[in-house]
Amino acid sequence: MATTLKGSGVSPGTGYAAAHLLVGSIPEPPKGAVHDGDAGAEKARVQAALEEVAADLEARGERAGGEAAEVLSAQAMMARDPGLAEGVGELVDAGVSGERAVYEAFGAYRDLLAAAGGYLGERVADLDDIRDRAVARLTGAPMPGVPVDAAEPYILVARDLAPADTALLDRNLVAAFVTEEGGPTSHTAILARAMGVPAVVGCAGATALVQGTPLLVDGATGEVVIEPEPAAARAAVATARARAEALSGTTGPGATADGHPVPLLANVGGPKDLEAALANGAEGVGLYRTEFLFLDRADAPSEAEQQAAYRAVFDAFPGGRVVVRTLDAGADKPLAFLPPPGEEPNPALGERGLRMFRRYPDMMAAQLGALARAAEGTEAIPYVMAPMVATVAEAAWFADACHAAGLETAGIMIEVPSAALRARDLVKVVDFFSIGTNDLTQYAMAADRQIAGVSDLQDPWHPAVLDLIALAADAAGAAGKGCGVCGEAGADPVLACVLVGLGVTSLSMGAPALPWVRASLARHTLDQCRAAADAARSAPGASEAKEAARACLTGLGDLGL
Ligand code: PEP
Ligand code: MG
Repeated sequence: MATTLKGSGVSPGTGYAAAHLLVGSIPEPPKGAVHDGDAGAEKARVQAALEEVAADLEARGERAGGEAAEVLSAQAMMARDPGLAEGVGELVDAGVSGERAVYEAFGAYRDLLAAAGGYLGERVADLDDIRDRAVARLTGAPMPGVPVDAAEPYILVARDLAPADTALLDRNLVAAFVTEEGGPTSHTAILARAMGVPAVVGCAGATALVQGTPLLVDGATGEVVIEPEPAAARAAVATARARAEALSGTTGPGATADGHPVPLLANVGGPKDLEAALANGAEGVGLYRTEFLFLDRADAPSEAEQQAAYRAVFDAFPGGRVVVRTLDAGADKPLAFLPPPGEEPNPALGERGLRMFRRYPDMMAAQLGALARAAEGTEAIPYVMAPMVATVAEAAWFADACHAAGLETAGIMIEVPSAALRARDLVKVVDFFSIGTNDLTQYAMAADRQIAGVSDLQDPWHPAVLDLIALAADAAGAAGKGCGVCGEAGADPVLACVLVGLGVTSLSMGAPALPWVRASLARHTLDQCRAAADAARSAPGASEAKEAARACLTGLGDLGL
């Protein structure tokens, strides 16, 4: 059995090749080494060496271009840092040799950065690299660095990689990076992602590997298999490559293979999630969980504060739909400023979601007011919806309040079986539905989301859940209204096809799932999705439903699903 090392996967992809260990750090100049007495000349020699290092870094950056150019010019600035030069100068004035002075002055600064931790701590490798380059120039030692004339692809293994090491690497020769140190914001991670090279950082034991050992590196899971079985390793690389090509080859708005549009939207918990949503091609937001903004707050947020948080998300999607869910407090998402009235033995069945607004109508007015003001003049298309709606009366109460506040498009989540069963009545009083499959499954299967012992029942593939989804989608379709899914079910690229086959009109999910769902839909026609939905609903249980659906979805193999 091959041994496996584990680090953090920071750049996805799979690489298989022999390890090339980056050793060759410059020997430490001897302690107590002194110069010949001319401090001025020694300082000039050091200055010239640092300037040559800086100029060389810039030249490498210019040759490499792009992000590497920026990184290397920042590193060149470090080499020209007047504070560092001053530190070196003081030591030289005290008689210390130029190379030893560089070593010590950089060492002191290095300790400061390392102690600061975080992003600054991860600059330590950059600083060490400048030091080694300067010492090499002063002593005539060979420059540290990566292989320049390799004949075969290799996996570069190092303690940490400096930008100067990676900038001129030939992408076709580097199968992966593995570093013993470094975190997700280290330059190894940044440059690996920019180059599209798989990378694992923070991998304990990496530098103890023997030069030339075959490695299989998974830049997503962070696993580094030592001496893997060659045929299996080659197969893993081929599968990963095919999958990556299939995913990156499917772009644009969501649609089935025969062009039936299915808008693909992102679930967000606040402005911090927008970058990932945009990077994964979200066409809008299908679920903005506003309670996530305030989970750690003791006091109710002001209307102005709410308005700003809503507006930031609207502004990210000009022309796109942004579905904001009003506060879903209670049960698994308690908010200190909206406490339940007393002890609830079953909080999931208690006062949560829209039921809280019955108790705190001022909070509802404040949130709808803030939303209406945030929506003024926005280029996004604002939708508002309430969670945990069980009756027509609740749906009508909420929709009327939204319309009265000036919010045109008001909908409800379908998360309670009663709402799905009577969707044909509820649809008359609202503008759209969005199915929360997480809660709908919890309530349909009577299996609390927070109790691991019943997790096998919390499976949206269960035909009972699919039947409820079909009821809601049919009712919305008959009324000419939209019915999305914003629960986790929409993030499963196989179940996504089934949902579309059931009549769901849009899918919303955590951003990383978007490329998978986009690629899966693009490989199947609407008829295939409908056949998969029928097959799943005809099955007696969740696992049989999944198998039956998969048999109809012939394009899944392309994606390794
Ligand atoms: C759901 O229940 O499916 C849903 C999307 O809402 P939440 O997970 O926030 O309860
Ligand atoms: Mg829910």
